[in-house]
Amino acid sequence: MAQILDGKAHADRMLAEVKRGVEARVASGKRPPCLAVVLVGDDPASQVYVRGKVKACQETGITSVEHRLSADASQEEVNGLIDRLNADAGVDGILVQLPLPKGLDSKEALHRIAPPKDVDGFHPLNQGLLLEGLPGLRPCTPSAVMNMLKAYGLELKGQRAVVLGRSEIVGKPMALMLLEEHATVTIAHSRTKDLPAVCREADLLVAAVGRPGLVEGSWIKPGAVVVDVGINRVEDLELATRIFAKEPKKLETLKAKGGVLCGDVRFGEAMEVARAVTPVPGGVGPLTIAGLMMNTLQASV
Ligand code: NAD
Repeated sequence: MAQILDGKAHADRMLAEVKRGVEARVASGKRPPCLAVVLVGDDPASQVYVRGKVKACQETGITSVEHRLSADASQEEVNGLIDRLNADAGVDGILVQLPLPKGLDSKEALHRIAPPKDVDGFHPLNQGLLLEGLPGLRPCTPSAVMNMLKAYGLELKGQRAVVLGRSEIVGKPMALMLLEEHATVTIAHSRTKDLPAVCREADLLVAAVGRPGLVEGSWIKPGAVVVDVGINRVEDLELATRIFAKEPKKLETLKAKGGVLCGDVRFGEAMEVARAVTPVPGGVGPLTIAGLMMNTLQASV
């Protein structure tokens, strides 16, 4: 049986570290770091994510200020709000919760955030610094995953790493961070030929795709480390019966509640083959929020 990489426990350690950093900053006579969260529209999932981020701010002593705009807000209104937050010396970090409602250009909004306040690490300047291996604000999900892998003492140097997914938010920055640690990195995606064979080469497999249970146990090299970034809600019983063959509890939850959360990896099957696996929920999700708190503290320095 594989070891479970406890993302929640590691996230709690990261949050405690941020809290100590905030306390030290306040003890030196400065105000606490301040995160401005911009939420446009009323997407229920976005509201849940924002609540989680505000709660983590409260736990760490970071001040959070929510700025809500209605779903029919114009690009000019969004840009204007970002400009004001950029100019506000009392704000250290700016987070625009994605996705933005249809009709709004999220790239335009993200590119408008002043790079030193870009706590999501999505601005081209911060992405460029990452590409060059220079310090900057880095995307929260991959940087927190790296933080956890190091804390677990998992060797990356010389390892074959496969990152499934090539998004700007997770896949690409994850690949760059693994490369920085001297892993030999392959980025696989929806057009990759013979995906199972590519995955089977991985000593470290990171799945960031958004397809429930895509990665089967037979895709995993025995003894590999598996990081599951995907967060998917499954409601279809036929799909669930296939992907949860080794996880009867997930199937029970789906039947009782009409839906269940899972990752891109078939956790039960992975547990039989891998050396270590992150669960969903309780794996990468909590780490991402902890990474955001770390970035907000960093942006305030
Ligand atoms: P995205 O949709 O931007 O990118 C998905 C990537 O997967 C694409 O590069 C695509 O090429 C690839 N892909 C799609 N179908 C594929 C297939 N069948 N085989 C191989 N590759 C395929 O998604 P994202 O923003 O990178 O997020 C990926 C997943 O991670 C989602 O489930 C998202 O909810 C989750 N996520 C979780 C956290 C967290 O905190 N745990 C943070 C960010 C994203």
